[in-house]
Amino acid sequence: MRIRDSQVSKLYRAEREAWQVYSLPLPTIADIRKYLEQQSARKPLQLRYGDAVNVIEWELEIADGRGRRHAAAYGSYRISIPLWARNNWVVLHEWAHIIHSRLAIDGEISSTTFDLWRHGSRRQELRGGAAHGWQFAAIYLDLVHFCIGKDAASALKAAFKTHKVRYRPKRTRVATQEQQERLAAMRAARTAPVAKAA
Ligand SMILES: [Zn+2]
Repeated sequence: MRIRDSQVSKLYRAEREAWQVYSLPLPTIADIRKYLEQQSARKPLQLRYGDAVNVIEWELEIADGRGRRHAAAYGSYRISIPLWARNNWVVLHEWAHIIHSRLAIDGEISSTTFDLWRHGSRRQELRGGAAHGWQFAAIYLDLVHFCIGKDAASALKAAFKTHKVRYRPKRTRVATQEQQERLAAMRAARTAPVAKAA
């Protein structure tokens, strides 16, 4: 079943606010490749995502996006970045799609079971969800944090909050005994016959 991508436009609005700062141009495909190869070597990203962040052994194709208006990610193997979109933010957004979709499939290089349960791994936690769901937003935030920096990540997080983009699971609250009793009393009072005033 396909999950409705309900926060896509909110996420686009939010990221455009954050993009105004810390933008690094990556004018050619070779620049993008070099940038991603450098970023994928980062230890915290490898720890969290295992081989899903690898762009060499688990090859990531980078297409030039000619004739296309938008940058895009195709499954777990290709991104396409048209000329106007060649900066670190757009590249990280599309890379986050690649990583997100790779979490759903078995590792190409290392054993996934090892990756999954390693301490600090987010592979299990961030599997699934909508294309721009909270899991995607969490991966994107991680990439911005480790590849651009803390301040850029704070800017993006603030924009997510302003535009109500979720990057964490919905909290499921468990009512306390006292709350349950109060709720039951309220329901009882509502259904009880109202005494008519004389
Ligand atoms: Zn996207």
